[in-house]
Amino acid sequence: MVIHPKFIFVTGGVMSGLGKGIVTSSTAKLLQLCGLKVSCIKIDPYLNYDAGTMNPLTHGEVFVTEDGGECDMDVGNYERFLDVNLTIDHNITTGRIFSNVIKSERAGKYLGQCVQIIPHITDEIKSQLREISVKENLDVLVVECGGTVGDIESLPFLEALRQMKLEDEYSDTFFIHVTLAPVLDTVGDQKTKPTQHSVQELRRIGIQPDLLAVRCKTPLTKDTIRKISLFANISPDSVMSCHDVSSIYSVPEILYEQGIAKVILKKLNLSYNLDISDWKKISKTYTGYNDHIKIAIIGKYVNLKDSYVSVYQALLHAGAKLNTEIEIDWIDSEKFETKDDVALNYGILDNSLTLLNSYDGILVPGGFGARGSEGIINASNHARANNIPYLGICFGFQLAIIAFARYVCKLSDANTTEINEKTSNPLIVYMPEQKHIKNLGGTMRLGLHEIELTADSNAFEIYQNSSIERRHRHRYEFNQNFKELLEKHGMRFTGSSDNKKRIEILEIPKHMFYFGIQYHGEFHSRPGNPEPSFKHFIKASIKKKATKGNQIFSS
Ligand code: GLN
Repeated sequence: MVIHPKFIFVTGGVMSGLGKGIVTSSTAKLLQLCGLKVSCIKIDPYLNYDAGTMNPLTHGEVFVTEDGGECDMDVGNYERFLDVNLTIDHNITTGRIFSNVIKSERAGKYLGQCVQIIPHITDEIKSQLREISVKENLDVLVVECGGTVGDIESLPFLEALRQMKLEDEYSDTFFIHVTLAPVLDTVGDQKTKPTQHSVQELRRIGIQPDLLAVRCKTPLTKDTIRKISLFANISPDSVMSCHDVSSIYSVPEILYEQGIAKVILKKLNLSYNLDISDWKKISKTYTGYNDHIKIAIIGKYVNLKDSYVSVYQALLHAGAKLNTEIEIDWIDSEKFETKDDVALNYGILDNSLTLLNSYDGILVPGGFGARGSEGIINASNHARANNIPYLGICFGFQLAIIAFARYVCKLSDANTTEINEKTSNPLIVYMPEQKHIKNLGGTMRLGLHEIELTADSNAFEIYQNSSIERRHRHRYEFNQNFKELLEKHGMRFTGSSDNKKRIEILEIPKHMFYFGIQYHGEFHSRPGNPEPSFKHFIKASIKKKATKGNQIFSS
C-alpha cells in the first residue's frame, strides 16, 4: 500500500505523433505488472468540452467509455494495455477545467477575488488529478499531457504539474519527456539537437525531466545516449530508446529491458517485484503468424488511420488470437458510388465493386452523414451478394439494412432519415428520445447498454451467452415496422436492448458471415482477448480465403 498517491507526468517535445500515448500506457502497464494499482489520465489542451464534437479526420477516433464519455483515443490505449474500464474523468480538457472554474465563480466560490489562470485554473487542474487518485485509491496515476512543449495551450497544465512537484514530496512525482532523435538520409547519424532544445524548453518553464523516452527508427546508439545525457542533464540510465517495433504491444518489453521500471520505482521510493512473463505471452502472439488474410475497411474517414484505431486494434487482437496476420486496405467509400443505380439494381456491378472480390472480409465501421454513404450501401450489398464475410458496425449495421431493403426487398428508395428525411421507406430513423434534443455535444445514445441475444442464433453462438453489455454512440436506429418484411426475405434480428425497443444485431443465416452490430464491439476488445464478433469475423475470413484457394486449385 502506497501512502501518498504518486504521479508520473508524461510530456511531449519536438512534434506531435511520437507515440506519447503508447509510452504512457506501456509505463503504466509495467507498474501494474509490479502489483501496483495504476491508472492513466489524458489531458487535452483544447477548448472543446470533450472529443465528441471533433472531426475524426483531424483528431482521430472518439473513444467511448462505459459511462458514455466521448474521449480522446489515447483513453482507448490505456484501457487496452491495462485491461481496465475507465470513466470520462480520465480525459481532462481545457474546456472542462475552464467551465468548472467559471461555474464556481458564478456560484460565488471566489467572492472578492480576481479569477486568474494562476492560481484558479492551475488549482482546478491539480484538484482534479488528486481527486481521481484518491477516489480510485491509486498507488500511481500516470498523467499524459497532450500537445507539445512550447504550445500556448498546454502552458497552464504544465504549470500545474510543476506546482505539484513543488508541493508534493520529492518521491511523489516523476517526469517523463517524450522526444525524437531523427536520422537525416544524407548524414545517417542520430541527431540529438531537437531533444536538447525540447528539454531546454521544458526547463525554461521549471520542469527538469527525470527520464527521456526518445523515439527513433533504430535503437539509440551509445554515443547518442551519452550526448543526450550530457546536454539534457539526465543520467544515461534514464535515456530510453523507443525505436520502431512491429507491434505496439512490444513497447512495455523494450522499456523494461532498458530498466525503466527500476529508474521510476527508485525515484518514487517503491519496492517492486516485476514479472512480465504473462504480458510477453500476449505480445508474442503479434509476431510470426501462420496465416495471412486481406481485409477491406470501407469508411468515410480512411485518410487518417487513427479515425478507426479501436477497430484496427480489435482486428489485430482477433488475428493474433487466430495466429493470422491481418493486412488491411483502407478504402474511401466514395469510390463505390455509382450514378448508375439502375444497373446495380439489376445486378450489373460497378467495376470498382468487383475489386472487393480480392478481399477475404469486408468491414464497415461507424460514420455520420451523407458523404460516401451510397458507396457503403453498395459495398455492403456486394459483400452480401458475393458471400464475402461482412462485419458492419453502427453506421455499417444501419447501411447494411438499407442495402438489404433496396436490393433484396426491392424497396428502391429505402434509406436512413439521416441521409434522406423524405424517403417513403425510412428503414433507419431518429430515436424518439433524441427528437427534443437541440445541443449536439454529449447528447447521443452513449455508453454501456445491455443486449439480449436470441437463442439458437449466430449471435448466441458467437457470444456463448444470452446477454452481453456493449458501448454505444448513435442517434438513429432500425425502424421495426420493417422487421417482418426483412425477416421474410432472410435477414434475422438476433440482439435487442431496452426491452426489445431497439434492435442491436442483424445476421443473414444463409450467408457465410454477415453480421451487423448497432453497438461498438471494438471498444471492448483487448490484446489476448478479442471481442467475439471480431474474432468470428476473422475466423470466417480465414475460411473464405481457404475456400478461394481451393477454387483456384480446382480450376
Ligand atoms: N450516424 C449514425 C447514427 O447516429 C451512426 C453512428 C455511428 O456509426 N457511430 O445513428
